[in-house]
Amino acid sequence: MSVCPCTSGKAFNTCCGRFIFSSKADLQRKPAAKTPEQLMRSRFTAYALGNYGDYLLATWWPLTSQHLSSVELSQKSCEWVRLDVLEKGQKGNDGWVSFCAWYLDENGSEQAMCERSTFKRENGRWYYVDGDVS
Ligand SMILES: [Zn+2]
Repeated sequence: MSVCPCTSGKAFNTCCGRFIFSSKADLQRKPAAKTPEQLMRSRFTAYALGNYGDYLLATWWPLTSQHLSSVELSQKSCEWVRLDVLEKGQKGNDGWVSFCAWYLDENGSEQAMCERSTFKRENGRWYYVDGDVS
């Protein structure tokens, strides 16, 4: 059993592995994340593993992802090593998660990318809308 990259301490298969898929054909076969935090964690995991561009696009609000491609999003831009969820909330179909995502820079030291992401729910599915990097 591999440990989930989102550092929840759970196994991948019982954590983000429930949601993420590498081909759009799996969209209907996989359950949708129930909370903004679940979606945020699964998207971090998709970035950390690479090759999940279809999942990142499928969970991205169409208006803010129209210039992005699955191929681009499938590339591993850097090595993500850890995720800290700082704060989260939900009001109706709007949600937000503040987090710091840690990655290794070219010298191998950990750097943090901190963001407050916003999410919207439509037809029972949460979507990432955009984020403010702090
Ligand atoms: Zn996870």
